[in-house]
Amino acid sequence: MFLSKESGFHKDHIVGERSCDCEYFLFSTIYKEKDVCVHIKTFIIASRREDFVKLYVSDLDFKEILTEIFAYGKSLKLRKLLSLRE
Ligand SMILES: [Zn+2]
Repeated sequence: MFLSKESGFHKDHIVGERSCDCEYFLFSTIYKEKDVCVHIKTFIIASRREDFVKLYVSDLDFKEILTEIFAYGKSLKLRKLLSLRE
């Protein structure tokens, strides 16, 4: 499972090579069978280039990050962990 930070809107998404939690993916990719969302495209490009940050977190932190993304669309916990890392 992967989390991507969208620079324009500052929202986090749970993205994989074939799924995303964004509205575009749900309505256009699944419902209308259109092309995949920009998050998946970006995820695939970043994976190929190995252009990403790998963050190891505890199960508890991971659950907290997911809960925040589902509740608020972004995770402050994730931002905090990323900033501590830098
Ligand atoms: Zn998406």
